[in-house]
Amino acid sequence: MYAQVIVDIAHSQVDRIFEYSCSDEVQVGCRVKVPFGGRIIEGFVIGLSPTPSFDADKIKPVREVYDELPAIVPECLSLMERICERYRVPKAVALRLFLPSEMRLGRVREVFTSFVKLTDPAAEVGKRAPKQAELCFALREGDMELSSAAERFGRAAVNALVSKDIAEIYKVRRIRTPMGGEEEEFTPVELTPAQTSALEYIEKSDKTVQLIHGVTGSGKTEIYLSYIAEVLRRGKTAIFLVPEISLTPQMLRQLRRRFKGEAAIMHSGLSAGERFDEWWRLRSGEAKIAIGARSAIFAPLENLGAIIIDEEHDASYVSEAAPRYSTADIARIRAEYNGCKLIMGSATPSVESYICATEGQYGLITLPDRINKKPLPEIIISDMRKEVKRGNNTSFSQALREELSATLAGGNQAIIFLNRRGYAKTVICQDCGYVARCENCDVSLTYHSDENCLKCHYCGAKYHMPPACPECGGRHLRYGATGTQRVVSDLKELFPSAKILRMDNDTVSGKDGHYKILKQFGQRQADILVGTQMIAKGHDFPSVTLVGILDADMSLHFSDYRSGERTFQLITQVAGRSGRAGAKGKVVLQTYSPENYILRYAVNYDYKGFFENEVKIRKATGFPPYSLICRVMVVGEDENSALEVLKNIYFSLLKLKEENEDEFIFFNKMHSPIKKIQGKLRYQVLMRLKDGRLLPQIYDAAAKYTTNSVLAYVEENPANLS
Ligand code: ADP
Ligand code: ZN
Repeated sequence: MYAQVIVDIAHSQVDRIFEYSCSDEVQVGCRVKVPFGGRIIEGFVIGLSPTPSFDADKIKPVREVYDELPAIVPECLSLMERICERYRVPKAVALRLFLPSEMRLGRVREVFTSFVKLTDPAAEVGKRAPKQAELCFALREGDMELSSAAERFGRAAVNALVSKDIAEIYKVRRIRTPMGGEEEEFTPVELTPAQTSALEYIEKSDKTVQLIHGVTGSGKTEIYLSYIAEVLRRGKTAIFLVPEISLTPQMLRQLRRRFKGEAAIMHSGLSAGERFDEWWRLRSGEAKIAIGARSAIFAPLENLGAIIIDEEHDASYVSEAAPRYSTADIARIRAEYNGCKLIMGSATPSVESYICATEGQYGLITLPDRINKKPLPEIIISDMRKEVKRGNNTSFSQALREELSATLAGGNQAIIFLNRRGYAKTVICQDCGYVARCENCDVSLTYHSDENCLKCHYCGAKYHMPPACPECGGRHLRYGATGTQRVVSDLKELFPSAKILRMDNDTVSGKDGHYKILKQFGQRQADILVGTQMIAKGHDFPSVTLVGILDADMSLHFSDYRSGERTFQLITQVAGRSGRAGAKGKVVLQTYSPENYILRYAVNYDYKGFFENEVKIRKATGFPPYSLICRVMVVGEDENSALEVLKNIYFSLLKLKEENEDEFIFFNKMHSPIKKIQGKLRYQVLMRLKDGRLLPQIYDAAAKYTTNSVLAYVEENPANLS
């Protein structure tokens, strides 16, 4: 046999098929070791043929076969081709998506636990060796894990028994099930009429993609899980994606409780061994549901019956490393391949998805009510301009302070949300709410402290930093950040006896950092949880009756055409944490621009109103999805070589532009807004295009000129233009 092999080197120069001879047991999708350029390296078999395609004498043999069961299933091989075509990456890079990283380079393959067992139960150990005698005695009760035997009796005692042939050490392949929950009993709920008809609608619909727009707490999760249960009953498998899996321990427990060992979790927070074990359980067919963040879309499952994307609007579904894929695009390819449904759900669908649903490309299911008709929490607006005028310079409005006292007095819990990311660099007048905006682009400007000026991240225009507010002449222009730390210390002063937890990138560390903080809060070990974006996600804390949003409008002025959408989503998601169980929830939303239309829609939970307005704006300004923003980034340490690459790409794209004038709305090259990150200089060619027709040429230009020291890559509608 002759194997067509892709070597595991991420370089376009070796991105082609190499041929090796092999034995008959090699299958398509197996990983192999092959001689290559004087070394032995890993490769993937992507095809087999009984005859060589050139001189058989010159073909070298495969050295070793790693897999009995091919690591890459046939569907994933075809998906690999699609990814390479779409995102123009070498095949090796696409193939790596399908394996846990620790499987490569032969690092982790299987995880074993060692046990000690008696081979000769009748053996007597003399009194002169009391430890050995005790160990021997203990082993008569049953085998022991080697680590605990060594801990209790000493490794020397174990070794002595082994060398005397009284005991032996054996290994067992260990499958650990992370997060627990399997032992808990599952009690099914009766579906509500709305849930039943949603499932019926999905079943009947001939459209691959189904969008569930359901308010927070409307029972979307139960719909996903019932659908998965039905899929399993039909002997099929499922993929269930959540935005950030470490933030959703409750969801994981729920899945384990319901599906036990059939659910496998793919999660970067697991140890290498756990990750491999879960992957293997899916590949071997033992587990049938892959649950995870975006990379779980590459799960080694065959015969898929459903793909679910929860919180489909979330920005984490776009990959930040090559290939910069959109998870929904990949999910759709897999759903079409398997003839199954892709179900996407959100309380605040992305504008792009909702357009597809209203135009009939997707099925649409609307759940306007919470389960048991529990009301959505009331949102109260605090006008921070008035607070400043009254001399209140703290982080909290009068209303929020009063609500906090009442909540604590009532024995309930509160969440305080701070949107630090959007805060950092926008200039806002604290007297009138004025925000500096670009004259050409209708986006807010970003403050650059190195040049003390304001810049537009879309067209590169520069503006002077105004000494006073151009609207009202006020001098309270603010562009600093109030961090979570400061909020916590303010809270401690106001409520000395309250217990406060803080959750942000600084306090969360280690494998279960998030989990621990959320668990403490869930067990009511604290009264107030203060945090950034990460507390906005789908947590279900029954005793939270108050949510404070400290700076609702800061993401509104973030320099991104999606800032209005993001703000609406964020407010709705955070507000949804309040009043989920018995007591009615409240939300206090602090803002410097209370009249802003986005906030108005959010306060009234008016998604449709928001959506229609947003579509009008996007159409009028020609922003996505009515255009495509495309950026080629050039990143390198050495200025001259980076500029050389930039120049090459710029001129080849310029030529493309001249040949396709009417495809381009905007075209320019410039420094990136952040000129240097981790010692690497950053340049960009920024384009706004009518559509994606020229993407292949743009990807090719970036790939062609990228070098070993200067990386060039393409981003489509980047979530972040820094
Ligand atoms: P969503 O995913 O839309 O936010 P969930 O599925 O989490 O909503 O449901 C919200 C709450 O309602 C959860 O506590 C859930 O256990 C409960 N719930 C969902 N469906 C039902 C049902 N059919 N009967 C009773 N309770 C339900
Ligand atoms: Zn501009």
